[in-house]
Amino acid sequence: MSDVRNVIIIGSGPAGYTAALYTARASLNPLVFEGAVTAGGALMNTTEVENFPGFRDGIMGPELMDNMRAQAERFGAELIPDDIVAVDLTGDVKTVTDSEGNVHKARAVIVTTGSQHRKLGLPNEDQLSGRGVSWCATCDGFFFRDQDIAVVGGGDTALEEATFLSRFARSVKVIHRRDTLRASKAMQERAFADEKISFEWDSAVEAIHGDPKLTGVTLRDTTTGETRELPVTGLFIAIGHDPRTELFKGQLDLDAEGYLKVEAPSTRTNIPGVFAAGDVVDHTYRQAITASGTGCSAALDAERYLASLA
Ligand code: FAD
Repeated sequence: MSDVRNVIIIGSGPAGYTAALYTARASLNPLVFEGAVTAGGALMNTTEVENFPGFRDGIMGPELMDNMRAQAERFGAELIPDDIVAVDLTGDVKTVTDSEGNVHKARAVIVTTGSQHRKLGLPNEDQLSGRGVSWCATCDGFFFRDQDIAVVGGGDTALEEATFLSRFARSVKVIHRRDTLRASKAMQERAFADEKISFEWDSAVEAIHGDPKLTGVTLRDTTTGETRELPVTGLFIAIGHDPRTELFKGQLDLDAEGYLKVEAPSTRTNIPGVFAAGDVVDHTYRQAITASGTGCSAALDAERYLASLA
């Protein structure tokens, strides 16, 4: 079965490229499907990354990903900028099908397809990403010292982000569509007790303004329909994430929120020879360094699995 590879990696963010680097250096000739449109993953859409260790002065997101890609390629990873559209992971030899219908086979598969943050769906949201609009307080909070900012959402994540951001910001407005929060009582009490945090109840973001950087948003009252302006230089969107797991439904076990289940701390899924890493597994940390860390674990788990077959 000479056309059967050792490892196929689906996804090319920090998790996928790190898994590629490790499996390449272990002489496993990994084949990586990077995705057709978003090769490089979530960091291709951001500006400066200040918290990836090893870059004392920070590094631009796309440059960091280009470095990871080149490092994996240097050791022999084969990279294809295409989507996988179907998988059969159940047998000893797994198959994945690319967008042109070509079927690729491997003994081990590492899934690193990431998760998609939910967007508001407003016209210049992408353009202002990294220029005031953010989806990650841990990543970007530091950039907003002494500024007036807002968080959109009413769940635990939104309040956790607001509470975290109040360390840096001058004021934090939580914008929520309703007049009650979904977040846990404990989280609500913490936010209510924080003097820097206030609430824009029954409010939806109707427009985002600024060029080249965010200067404010237009809010619409969800009960009266009236609009008003809110000047802010930061907008954190915390309305949820959708792990990219559609492809694996019915084969790999998913949790209630659609994330892939693994036998933590390993990266093993319910199918022998299939491993998962990065944000497609992770509800909690969602950082480039944690995705890289579990990508490394998945490569080592795959390596051991392949050695056990020999
Ligand atoms: P991703 O980076 O999401 O990569 C997944 C990849 O899989 C994508 O390339 C996608 O195209 C590919 N893929 C999906 N489905 C398929 C398929 N069917 N076939 C082939 N390929 C597929 N973290 C930090 O640590 N520091 C920061 O400063 C920071 N800033 C951020 C700024 C923004 C705007 C965003 C959105 C996130 C930021 N993060 C930051 C979070 C960080 O980007 C993620 O935690 C990290 O990228 C997750 O890595 P991953 O490899 O799991 O997935």
